Amino acid sequence: MRTWKAILTAALLASMSAAAQQAAEQQPSAQPPAPDATQTAQSSQQATPATAQPAAAQAASIAPPAPSPAPTTMDQVVTLFIEHEHGLIKALATRTPVVETYLQNLTADPQLGPVPSADHYFLGRMDMGETVDRKDYLKEEDRSMQSRLLGGFGKLYKVQYQPLGFSWMVYADRTDFDREHYEFRYARREFLGDVRCLVFDVTPKPKSGRGRFLGRIWVEDQGFNIVRLNGTYAPAPRNAMFFHMDSWRLNLIPGYWVPAFIYSEEGDFSAGVKNRLAFKAQTRIWGYDLKKGGKDDELTQIRVDSVTDESAAAQDASPLQAERVWQQQAEDNVVERLTNAGLLAPDGDLDRILQTVVNNLEVTNNIDLPRPVRTRVLLTSPLETFSVGNTIGDQPGLVDVLPDEASLAAVLSHELAHIVLGHNLGSKYAFNDRMLFSDEGTYQNLGFKHIPEEETAADKKAVELLKNSPYAQKLDNVGLFLKALQLRAPQLSALLTTHLGNPLAENGTVIRLSALETQGPALDNAKLDQIPALPLGGRVKINPWDDKAEMVKTAPVAITSARDKMPFEVTPFFPRLIRYGTGAAAPAATPATAAANNGTGN
Ligand SMILES: [Zn+2]
Repeated sequence: MRTWKAILTAALLASMSAAAQQAAEQQPSAQPPAPDATQTAQSSQQATPATAQPAAAQAASIAPPAPSPAPTTMDQVVTLFIEHEHGLIKALATRTPVVETYLQNLTADPQLGPVPSADHYFLGRMDMGETVDRKDYLKEEDRSMQSRLLGGFGKLYKVQYQPLGFSWMVYADRTDFDREHYEFRYARREFLGDVRCLVFDVTPKPKSGRGRFLGRIWVEDQGFNIVRLNGTYAPAPRNAMFFHMDSWRLNLIPGYWVPAFIYSEEGDFSAGVKNRLAFKAQTRIWGYDLKKGGKDDELTQIRVDSVTDESAAAQDASPLQAERVWQQQAEDNVVERLTNAGLLAPDGDLDRILQTVVNNLEVTNNIDLPRPVRTRVLLTSPLETFSVGNTIGDQPGLVDVLPDEASLAAVLSHELAHIVLGHNLGSKYAFNDRMLFSDEGTYQNLGFKHIPEEETAADKKAVELLKNSPYAQKLDNVGLFLKALQLRAPQLSALLTTHLGNPLAENGTVIRLSALETQGPALDNAKLDQIPALPLGGRVKINPWDDKAEMVKTAPVAITSARDKMPFEVTPFFPRLIRYGTGAAAPAATPATAAANNGTGN
């Protein structure tokens, strides 16, 4: 049992070092700069998922469109992409993906430029059919926050297409994307990632009505599908405004590029300009393939396996064994239910990395649990962790913003401490009737918040585990991270509001691992080598079709000013586009995973 457990330190998460944001010459590692080193760290984030694509194809159950004859004129190209856009709308009409918008209001800081002043979070399932509908996962009070936000805007501007918010930006024009309503002007050719595109400027024709798309589209030059839309809608009605948006699609199934990311930004921080509205917002869409294909079989199999393990001896279970099997049953039920609701990623590469960090803590502390600790990745943006049975749910945004592996270990150590201390929650979920609720009701029906006494005990134990681990010498970084979090916590309450577990911060004050907050040097923005926390979305990417999560490999980019740090901030999307079936040979997570694999033999 112990042989597979080995300590893996610095090399584990090459991309987890804060130095990843530093200039290449400051990097002690022998890593050569990646070919796309000219891109910024943010520009290479959210790269196109290069997943095991045959599986996705199997589950797709959307037949690829019939191949069209190669166009010989730009006019024919226009005809093709208009046709394909209608084909996409039709193909996705039965889908109900998860849609999440995370928005940061901005205010000007003399030193740091525009910084978050408040934030808002929306989560729901979007019906891609004719009737635009969005079912919310969040509780009543969160919904009223949404209406407050929209209502708040409403006093100044009427937001169109409410309550859909930002997710309506998935298509240029759902009903009238044609030559009668639009002028299409070819601009140039351009590569987006590996994909060569034809770029067109799109303008609505006079008198074609309000709320028409105005901007630029990128059309890939093999299937002639739109892969990116950048612009706004016009003309706006009186006393109303349309947001600007940059909307990206990914080639996740044969023949179709499906909407995946939308970035939106408003505000002007030049001298003398009064902002009535300034924000940055990321909208992510995933879970296109929820409740489709072979997912049910896969999960049934996991449960059969685990039950077999526990009852290996052909005897009746002892009371303790019975208790453990019961706990595991609850754990499996919860993991299955959250996965089916599109809130938890399927078991994947990122879990191997997280489990290695947990393993490092276990080995050095001589923790030998009856069952190995499993980790699973939450797909939602708010920073949270939770544990149920021996499973730790971890949020990829945390992996994004944490400066290094020690900080990741610190966050995981708290949940590991709950498990070690036997703070088992959720055994009631071993009763299957408790799993029978609608996906939208997940947060009302599942919850793993500990009582304050257990939280305090877990924090104490976590610090103990860390001080006795390979991360003991690096707890200064954890202290810096907690200080940075404290600095931003009052403005980022939506990011820090948990929906399943206990929060890192409450009412603007960091409460998790507060014993470590005093550790390490003082926070100093002017120090460019001090990177206490990273922007959101830089390390983990989710495949919007099958929900698989993996690490992104980004090239190191020099930080030239304090404004480049952008801790906990929303940044634009710039996925590296690839065609379906061409990326399977090079999964982005290889460096870290390879290190983990090599290390296990030690
Ligand atoms: Zn806790």
